[in-house]
Amino acid sequence: MLNQLLKQPSFSRDNMISLLSVKGDDTQKVLNRALEVKAATVGRNVYLRGLIELSNVCAKDCYYCGIRKANSRVHRYTLTDEEVFQAADFAWRKGFGSLVIQSGELSSPGFASHIERLLKGIHQRTNAELSVTLSCGEQPYEVFKRWHEAGAHRYLLRIETTNRALYDQIHPQNPLHAYAKRIEALEDLRKAGYQVGTGVMIGLPGQTIADLADDLIFFKSLDVDMVGMGPYIEHAETPLFEKFMLLWPAAERFRMSLLMIAGLRLLMPDINMASSTALETLDPLGRQSGLLAGANVVMPNLTPVINRINYQLYNNKPNLDKDPALSTSSLNEVIEAIGEKICYFEPGTSRHFLKRQG
Ligand code: SF4
Repeated sequence: MLNQLLKQPSFSRDNMISLLSVKGDDTQKVLNRALEVKAATVGRNVYLRGLIELSNVCAKDCYYCGIRKANSRVHRYTLTDEEVFQAADFAWRKGFGSLVIQSGELSSPGFASHIERLLKGIHQRTNAELSVTLSCGEQPYEVFKRWHEAGAHRYLLRIETTNRALYDQIHPQNPLHAYAKRIEALEDLRKAGYQVGTGVMIGLPGQTIADLADDLIFFKSLDVDMVGMGPYIEHAETPLFEKFMLLWPAAERFRMSLLMIAGLRLLMPDINMASSTALETLDPLGRQSGLLAGANVVMPNLTPVINRINYQLYNNKPNLDKDPALSTSSLNEVIEAIGEKICYFEPGTSRHFLKRQG
């Protein structure tokens, strides 16, 4: 029955619920099939995105997030332009092909100009040879457009969960955190010409397997080009930590995250999918496990070591004390050891996006 299901050319919501409901040895069967599909569609290729955590200053108060505005224990920082350019230069020289600039969400003319300035400076210093992904939250359409014109061609805006009731439980009830606004922003990103990425947390308190299947179907209906999703990991200084007792055990959140990656590789074979840092938090081999479940992107952290400790969306984030150069060389070894190949000096554009462009 499972073997038949795994060979299907397309999958319904019920099929996804069945796949996400497997237990025991069947889990590995699903992961193995996803790896076969990955090999046959996007290949056993891994693309690098150098991650720059630009700033932990945020105007929002998401209940699950360690750097939410109301957390007064966080030391706030914003990298200087020079620090950003140095990280970009490192990525460029090492052949990463691509960068991600992530930050807390601010919506102001000053922030819009800041990001635009960084984009122009990065492209100028790197011969326009790095593709840049932004992950800077919801913005007005004009700002998305402006950043796209300044050289950002990919944007990651996670929906976090598509269950409306659950979304409302993990965000404050005000217009700044409205679900409708998030959806509108995702639609605006597509209109502005970006490769659009989104993602969810897996194992939120009260989340069900049917919710997770709905998340996968949502990605398909939005026709996304890339996805970054991973296990929900609690942060002690957040309101959601009160529901700690409702969480699935960490090992189960890890297993379900791998099943979600595998399920999405079957559902959308040619998209880009990140093996998240959160996987590595729950298991030292998490990054490799994500790749073996169907992911094809990893994001080595290029944020200056001194700032990383202050960009903790969740507890026990890994690689807080490693030098970026050490992280990348050890990464090469571990990726080759599992039979995957890092594609240096390639932008790793989503094949799904290229196909849609014709
Ligand atoms: S999840 Fe993002 S938008 Fe929400 S509080 Fe954290 S950094 Fe801000």
